Amino acid sequence: MYYYSTRDRSLFFSFKDAALTGLAPDGGLFIPGQIPAYRGAVKRSLSSMSFCDIACETILPYVEKDLPPSVLEEIIAGAFSFPAPLVPADREGAALGAPLVLELFHGPTAAFKDFGARFMARTFSYLRRGEDRPLRILTATSGDTGGAVADGFFGVAGIAVTILYPKGRVSELQEKQIAGLGGNISALAVEGSFDDCQTLVKAAFGDAALGKKLSLSSANSINISRLLPQAVYYAAAAGKILGGRLDGDGTATPRTRPVPAGDAAPAPSGNIRTVPMKNAGAAIFCVPSGNFGNLTAGLYAMAMGAPIAGFIAATNINRTVPDYLESGEYRTRLSQPTISNAMDVGAPSNFERMSAHWNYQDLRRMIRGVWVDDDETRSTIGGVYRDHGYYLDPHGAVAWTAVQKLRQSGGALLPGSSAGGPVAVLATAHPAKFSAAVEPLTGPVPVPRSIQRALDRTARARTIPADPAALRDFLLEDPV
Ligand SMILES: *Cc1c(COP(=O)(O)O)cnc(C)c1O
Repeated sequence: MYYYSTRDRSLFFSFKDAALTGLAPDGGLFIPGQIPAYRGAVKRSLSSMSFCDIACETILPYVEKDLPPSVLEEIIAGAFSFPAPLVPADREGAALGAPLVLELFHGPTAAFKDFGARFMARTFSYLRRGEDRPLRILTATSGDTGGAVADGFFGVAGIAVTILYPKGRVSELQEKQIAGLGGNISALAVEGSFDDCQTLVKAAFGDAALGKKLSLSSANSINISRLLPQAVYYAAAAGKILGGRLDGDGTATPRTRPVPAGDAAPAPSGNIRTVPMKNAGAAIFCVPSGNFGNLTAGLYAMAMGAPIAGFIAATNINRTVPDYLESGEYRTRLSQPTISNAMDVGAPSNFERMSAHWNYQDLRRMIRGVWVDDDETRSTIGGVYRDHGYYLDPHGAVAWTAVQKLRQSGGALLPGSSAGGPVAVLATAHPAKFSAAVEPLTGPVPVPRSIQRALDRTARARTIPADPAALRDFLLEDPV
């Protein structure tokens, strides 16, 4: 498998080049030359395979020139050491047609970005074996990426990480997850928005003089090695949905709270029960989206042949992509702050990758866009807690609301298709990560141990202006 730049199909790159450099030399994003198909036997048994086996089948064709199967297996076993349960929001939820929830927050930083970051850190560590020039990873975060990347790379030899985040626009917990580890992880609080942080990172990558002095790489959702592992949970969940198999405790007790993140999580393939589901068939995933890395990974899983009917792209008022799907015109905007702040993105970086693989008509066929404001999001958090005893975080709540809005409008969930298969809402963060927004609507949210550990740390960040020169100075004075 070779990789290309979204902006130039004439140059080939290996997976190793694509992963370690992050962004193509012409400023484009790396994309695989083709999207491989699952083998027939794999497609038929997705509902019974283990998560790690699905991960190997999904990722191997993209990386096999650089990661032998045994190495990939080891990376996967280490990275995906926590489950991704597919649960009904309550006991009767599936039967009543209420959305299922794909809980992606059981990793060490309680957000779905742990999947990508932990895979990437282990992959980098393998790809860099035997090198003596250290690697500097530069990443911009709107909140959750930073914590996941910091945690994933903390203590990895030969790699230093610098994380830029918008000062004052991330939660106390996110700031501690980003800036509380120290060691090989340094944090910069940028006086500006997330888009400013992304612009600074792009400027640093485009700075030839800097490139000569440092080995720079990125780790945000533009990195292909973060994207690929995210395709795995779509395939695994779509398999479960097709087979009518949900994760759960198998008892008749309604679930009153999410499984705690971290230590006490159940085994990935344990606790499966079979639930008769309305319209069992190809899944619809509703994806709360910001930079659209998660949704792009879902498109990869669908293109590989996972039983997926399509996607609902749910955004907050930063509605660039829903507007594009509606109008056919792509207009980026300035990002607006919301309570789902990890999705406050006005110029989604993975849009370039999506539209390199698929044209407007294709995207419109596979994705319906819906945007949701903060009042609607709050009302969902309160309502779902009242009706189902289930805590949603603001990001998952945006997705839940999007499904509700489509259902209330009476139309099909997907464009050009009347079939509404089972819908799974992606819960991308643990609600305790956003307790300031959630608790006024639900009362106290139980705090998982992973979050408590982070809260006990002290954040140590340096503040810089949103000026490329300030980042350059920092990088040059703080060589790895
Ligand atoms: C990053 C993030 C998102 C958005 O994911 P993208 O891949 O950027 O679209 C959604 N929810 C949470 C909790 C996140 O951290």
